[in-house]
Amino acid sequence: MRIVIDPGHGGKDPGAVKELYKDKLVKEKDITLAAAHLLYVSSLPYYYDILLTRTGDETVSLSDRVNKAIDFNANLFISLHCNASEDETANGVEVWVYENSKAFDLAKTVCELISKRVDLKNRGVKTTSKLYVLRKTPMPAILVEMGFITSRFDVWRLIDPISLGFIVTGIHQAIAVTLGGDRNENQ
Ligand SMILES: [Zn+2]
Repeated sequence: MRIVIDPGHGGKDPGAVKELYKDKLVKEKDITLAAAHLLYVSSLPYYYDILLTRTGDETVSLSDRVNKAIDFNANLFISLHCNASEDETANGVEVWVYENSKAFDLAKTVCELISKRVDLKNRGVKTTSKLYVLRKTPMPAILVEMGFITSRFDVWRLIDPISLGFIVTGIHQAIAVTLGGDRNENQ
């Protein structure tokens, strides 16, 4: 299976930003990149080929992200993001899919497993006909909003490496459960 992991934002586009303390900013682009690297490493024992749409703090256009997935002939596209709201009490994990997406079951399992592993509220699967990377990718695609960067509760789960690791493990297990993924333990 060929999987593209797409760390949202990057470079000139920080994504959502939260001031944790005075002058201490948490940027969505850094969390999505850290999560992408963790997801990459945790996939190594499996028969997956992985491509990241960016490996550093780079500006990558939405069309380049989609084209990379097409060129890679990916079977699955996973875009990683953090949610944001003016309402500081908004919290939890949600996963977006294109309407009638084949990835609906995967999205549902991602929500359930992340919610269970890091005690984030399960906001469920949302469908859209708008989000570019979901609309333009020909393969099954999900966009994971891993938690709200603007929530005092969620942000600590996103910046703590152990708990971010649990979030990533949730995504990873959802892939294995939904799409199958035998470990390659003979090498
Ligand atoms: Zn985002």
